[in-house]
Amino acid sequence: MQYPDPIAKLIDSYMKLPGIGSKTATRLAFFTIDMNKEDVETFASSLTAAKNDLHYCSICGNITDEDPCAICKDPSRDHKTILVVEQPKDVMSIDRSGDYHGLYHVLHGVLSPIDGRGPEDLNISSLLQRLKDDAAVDEVIVATNATPEGEATAQYLARLIKPAGIKVTRLAHGLAVGSDIEYADQMTLLKAVEGRTEL
Ligand SMILES: [Zn+2]
Repeated sequence: MQYPDPIAKLIDSYMKLPGIGSKTATRLAFFTIDMNKEDVETFASSLTAAKNDLHYCSICGNITDEDPCAICKDPSRDHKTILVVEQPKDVMSIDRSGDYHGLYHVLHGVLSPIDGRGPEDLNISSLLQRLKDDAAVDEVIVATNATPEGEATAQYLARLIKPAGIKVTRLAHGLAVGSDIEYADQMTLLKAVEGRTEL
């Protein structure tokens, strides 16, 4: 027996989410049908709003609903330091650790020749432009993940930025090789930022 079309469509939609197979998708679909109407409508409108109202900050590339984002335009932050991360979710992780008060720059990936991802595919030229436009920046902390691609990206950025007389540092290796910033606990992140070394 086939599911009625609205259920089949809902199952298909859930299956587009990461880590969700047909079994879980089916369970979620039937759960959704049992939810009250108001909750379902809130859920549906948050999905649409997240997609429609969010965009990337024109300065740092972080996800935001205003431009520039709240971090870039916060005068109480240290505007002399920029911490470079791979993904917007890394900004959240590091900012939640509470000890870093500088600015951020999101690359949206790392260099990966195997996947055909070069410098032009990342948010790198805007970082260089930012450093050129704002002479106040005196340190760039590269917080890409401790993977071979993350390391290569850090070295690449150091080669580009250091000639401008800006200090380039790398997070201390409190993070295990291959570990994602996203999953590091706050104390590990705090120590990694504190113990950063110059590239
Ligand atoms: Zn920003």
